[in-house]
Amino acid sequence: MKNINMQATKTPMPTQDAEIRRRNFDEVTLGYTEDDALNESLRCLSCKNTPCVAGCPVNVRIPEFIARIKELDFEGAYKIISESSSLPAVCGRVCPQETQCEARCVRGIKGEPVAIGRLERFVADYHNAHSSASGSKPEPNGHRVAIVGAGPAGLTCAGDLARVGYEVTVFEALHKAGGVLSYGIPEFRLPKRIVDKEVENLEALGVKLMTNVIIGKTLLVDELFDMGFEAVFIGSGAGLPAFMNIPGESLKGVYSANEFLTRSNLMGAFRENSETPIMKGGTVAVVGGGNVAMDAARTAVRLGADKVYIVYRRSEEELPARREEVEHAKEEGIEFMLLTNPTEVLGYNNENDRRDPKNGSVIGMRCQRMALGEPDARGRRRPVPVEGSEFTLDVDTVVMSIGTTPNPLIKSTTADLPTNERGGIIVEEGTGKTGKCGVYAGGDAVTGAATVISAMGAGKLAAAAIDEYLRTK
Ligand code: FAD
Ligand code: SF4
Ligand code: SF4
Repeated sequence: MKNINMQATKTPMPTQDAEIRRRNFDEVTLGYTEDDALNESLRCLSCKNTPCVAGCPVNVRIPEFIARIKELDFEGAYKIISESSSLPAVCGRVCPQETQCEARCVRGIKGEPVAIGRLERFVADYHNAHSSASGSKPEPNGHRVAIVGAGPAGLTCAGDLARVGYEVTVFEALHKAGGVLSYGIPEFRLPKRIVDKEVENLEALGVKLMTNVIIGKTLLVDELFDMGFEAVFIGSGAGLPAFMNIPGESLKGVYSANEFLTRSNLMGAFRENSETPIMKGGTVAVVGGGNVAMDAARTAVRLGADKVYIVYRRSEEELPARREEVEHAKEEGIEFMLLTNPTEVLGYNNENDRRDPKNGSVIGMRCQRMALGEPDARGRRRPVPVEGSEFTLDVDTVVMSIGTTPNPLIKSTTADLPTNERGGIIVEEGTGKTGKCGVYAGGDAVTGAATVISAMGAGKLAAAAIDEYLRTK
């Protein structure tokens, strides 16, 4: 057996052909075989100073788990990863590795970095396929904790507390747990069986899941304390969509990306008899250039759109989406209309046979060409309109994907819960402790839209802080 593989590029990931996958919702990437994983693991130089570990927000011991793969000890590799990450099958798929662990890999200096994410996914999938153990209930310690929101932050916090004996109840507004992992990220990027399995494992640990409960409406945070919970963790995410505030945004056929993806992922809107119908053909324009925009555009392709545009106001270089997602979107036939900004959505009211920006259906979008000007505060060149460049794009559906913020409901119904100007709950760094006694928070509800791994990391920190608080109270 070779001890080192000096191949400059990553071991390729087997992938569904673009022409086939654009007609189905099955996972696009198929995962490494054992041979692929071994081949890729041998590219790792086992660096003593472990630069890659510093790039991972939860400091997975990367060279150590890769060393176990080299020895074909895949369960040993899983054990090492799961000491730092509670959702390795998810993170191996959706972490932006190119800006995190892989960005620091020394093999990236003269070629491609080690495919850390693909190896992590391989190990987690191997474990899930070969292990039936789902954890046993630990001895109860007599303390009760409430978690608001069943996304990665809430589920991680719940799992860590349940493992040390807390009686944990998770309150979730939707009818299904998982947060964005269930309602946002489509099946073709993250199969829902993986999320469901994680939720089952938590339930086996004794975590109670109460779905269809909106904290701030069905129950208030203060009422949770009255019910006997001694601490509350808020992991309610950042699900409030932003709109451009241009004329015509309330027309039939304009969606936020969250609504569009939720209808498809969670409510099966693509089915013939669906009670939450969604577009099933025609031309779709998705406004925005992030991962969410790519997910919406690629979902529209699979729902049967004849043509899908990404409309983004900066150039390709500034696209915030992961490179891999942009490449996959292009392969699936999505057209990128760059340096372009919408100014109005145009509608048509069939009843009155006239254009009506309030009541009709979408028939087009007025757009303006943009050029890049001086850099803004974040160093990104600011898009400026090009005079006289307006044109009309014929579209039937518009999906706005220009960002989200935390929903103000919990803040507005909870006394003494300080938030910042963007609606994020203010917390103490390293613990997630809020200004309200016994209340902790983490994930997108604190940071605004971020990543799965950062939400998970925040859930872990808060669990440790809640444990400390309740043991010493
Ligand atoms: P969420 O996942 O948003 O979960 C919050 C949960 O709280 C939800 O289930 C919500 O219903 C519930 N909730 C909200 N309010 C209440 C209430 N009042 N009462 C009870 N429950 C409530 N990140 C990546 O790392 N990689 C990616 O590829 C990626 N792709 C993405 C694609 C899409 C379409 C979206 C929308 C996001 C993506 N992200 C990605 C971001 C990532 O998913 C989020 O950063 C992460 O899910 C945040 O986790 P969270 O637990 O803080 O919140
Ligand atoms: Fe990389 Fe994410 Fe795994 Fe950390 S959790 S090692 S960032 S893939
Ligand atoms: Fe392996 Fe790259 Fe980490 Fe070095 S930096 S230990 S080569 S993964």
